[in-house]
Amino acid sequence: MPDGSRIVSPRYDAARIRVRGAVQGVGFRPFVWSLARELGLSGWVLNDEDGVLIHAEGSGLDVFAYRLRADAPPLSRIDEIERAPAARSGAPAFEIRTSARRAGARTMITPDVAVCDDCLLDIFDPSNRRYAYPFTNCTNCGPRYTITRRLPYDRAQTSMAPFAMCPACRAEYDDPADRRFHAQPNACPECGPRLSAGIADIVARLKGGEIVALKGLGGFHLAVDARNEAAVDRLRARKRRDGKPFAVMVASRLSAAGLARLDDAEAALLTSRARPIVVCRLEKSAGLASGVTRGLGDIGLFLPYTPLHYLIFHEAAGRPPGRAWLEEHHDFALVMTSANPGGEPLVTSDSEARERLGAIADVIVGHDRDIVTRCDDSVMRVIDGAPAYLRRARGACPSPIKLSRAMPPALGLGGHLKTTICAIRDDEAFLSQHIGDLDNAATYRFYKETAAHLVDILEIEPETVACDLHPDFLSTQFAADWDVPVVRVQHHHAHIAAVAAEHRIDGPLAGLALDGFGLGADGEENWGGELLVVEGPAMRRVGALAPLRQPGGERAAREPWRMGAAALHALGRGADIARRFREQDGAGLVAEVLERDVNAPHTSSAGRLFDAACGILGVTPVASFEGEAAMRLEALARSPAALPGGYEIRGERLDFSPLLAALCDVDPATGADLFHGTLAEGLADFVACRLAAVGFPLRRVAASGGCLQNNVLARLLRSALGRRGIDLLTPRAAPANDGGLSLGQAWIASLAAENQKGDGSCA
Ligand SMILES: [Zn+2]
Ligand SMILES: [Zn+2]
Repeated sequence: MPDGSRIVSPRYDAARIRVRGAVQGVGFRPFVWSLARELGLSGWVLNDEDGVLIHAEGSGLDVFAYRLRADAPPLSRIDEIERAPAARSGAPAFEIRTSARRAGARTMITPDVAVCDDCLLDIFDPSNRRYAYPFTNCTNCGPRYTITRRLPYDRAQTSMAPFAMCPACRAEYDDPADRRFHAQPNACPECGPRLSAGIADIVARLKGGEIVALKGLGGFHLAVDARNEAAVDRLRARKRRDGKPFAVMVASRLSAAGLARLDDAEAALLTSRARPIVVCRLEKSAGLASGVTRGLGDIGLFLPYTPLHYLIFHEAAGRPPGRAWLEEHHDFALVMTSANPGGEPLVTSDSEARERLGAIADVIVGHDRDIVTRCDDSVMRVIDGAPAYLRRARGACPSPIKLSRAMPPALGLGGHLKTTICAIRDDEAFLSQHIGDLDNAATYRFYKETAAHLVDILEIEPETVACDLHPDFLSTQFAADWDVPVVRVQHHHAHIAAVAAEHRIDGPLAGLALDGFGLGADGEENWGGELLVVEGPAMRRVGALAPLRQPGGERAAREPWRMGAAALHALGRGADIARRFREQDGAGLVAEVLERDVNAPHTSSAGRLFDAACGILGVTPVASFEGEAAMRLEALARSPAALPGGYEIRGERLDFSPLLAALCDVDPATGADLFHGTLAEGLADFVACRLAAVGFPLRRVAASGGCLQNNVLARLLRSALGRRGIDLLTPRAAPANDGGLSLGQAWIASLAAENQKGDGSCA
């Protein structure tokens, strides 16, 4: 808002205006140019290493400065506008000047965004020269990060370089009044990239039940008709996909509403320019093949985001003109799953697609524009009333996460599962796109490339790198490749530090890590249900869940019945194990293992506590993918309530044995309500007791880790803490799961570098 405290009379004036933020490659200069012309100002605008610089003169500079912010182009983000008086230059008009650029340019690429409404009108208009052209874009939309090789963001530095613009495209590109002025990927059917198949053919094959590999923005998708049971089953079998649900793309918001009851926050996410996959509650199957969700209560929905996606739905709808059909419901729905066979990275090139997808897809649809940066779809969920990432990638990367202040350059190298890399430059943290699980050579290569790319485009030399405590992780071994000090960060410390970093908390912070697995700082127990006090690079464990046995070690994480058996044994009901789990192979053996106390390490993991509850209740005795049991338990909860006396606080330990005992005698739905209600109440009580006991005065606590993806738990925890006067901070900018670890690690590494220099400003 303009300064309203004084009245400024219109007078002729001159000003130098500096605009910082995401203001390059987003149509900011032509916007300034048009605005200045409209207001009758003269002067100039240019891009430089610090953002956008404007010299403007005339009367009405206050209105100009106000509208710079108020009317800024849709893809821009203004962090700061600085205005200083300047000498009049007597310039006759307003012009766009050529960019001034020096080394060390502090600018970034913007994320890829969905095709805009104006471009949709172009591709649905039979009289438009871009009718049905799948690579249509403009300054307000289209690919960015995934086509850019290096900065500055100019066409020559992108994979559009080989396509010389035709005279019509060139004229648009050169005209400041045109929507495609300096749109680097500008293209048309005359001069731009071409698809290897016709849209009508693609749709005919999809409707015929074939599996189509479709080249997208950041990689290939495998697409099938989501209503065709046989096609979905064939895709699942050929992809050797575990039981994880498939994401489904639908034409419109109303089509999505035909499958899920969307609240306002979910609908806003679904239609946002970033177009993430939004996990929501499946309302009615509405003819979807059962193989899509396999009985899970949740479904990941997303809307089309490239012109190609829209053209497929357009063709399926009978090629209606205009955009009005997108306000209607359409039955046609596509399973769109990442083409990453064998858990290896997403397929990005046409030749790679023929090699790796040949046995899965019936047809491969590629094109002649390279994907430079591999990038999966982002996955989000509304958790505790606000959007949160489950996977942060396309549409979010490489947007930075703002920190409280400028810090030394550092890298966080992530963990083992759902790995990401994070680089800190000044007061911003750049979290890489989701890379994947580091359990194969190809993903490890992609991981190392991503680290190199990030350091390269940010032009930083990290002073420290941070990795996990676990010695066997490839990410830990990779830390040695950097010729700088390595900080090894305990897994749950990193989870809480990530929350501190994004919420810009410099002082001490108490944190509740509710997670699957992480090596403990004591080296004896697997952690995962910890109350920590984090103060910069230092961490103190002030409480934890009472340990459970994990019979069979890691196997117990995939077979919740084993955790159920461990709980029974701990309750003194070991004799029930063989009977209760008689359908499971090895139930007798597990009872014996627990009795003899071999191969059953201790764990304080909250994830394993969920598994124990699921095991006892018979909810997913054997999981087909990570987190399945907890997801199914969450879906069963209807009206959670705490069980009186369901937990005990004994010194530094929080014990849910009474709850687990009660679960032995109830049905799964009642059990799900009791479990969530008691867990939240017990955790909140424990936090209040322990923080008082250790004299920690702050009335807020951070919570993170994989269990915070559970909406029921997150909501209950906030309200239970609130009743005790404690605020809850949760991850919003980075995932609560291990995808957010690298942010916390990088932040700690940077603080450690600061401390080494002796300025100690984090204390
Ligand atoms: Zn557009
Ligand atoms: Zn052209």
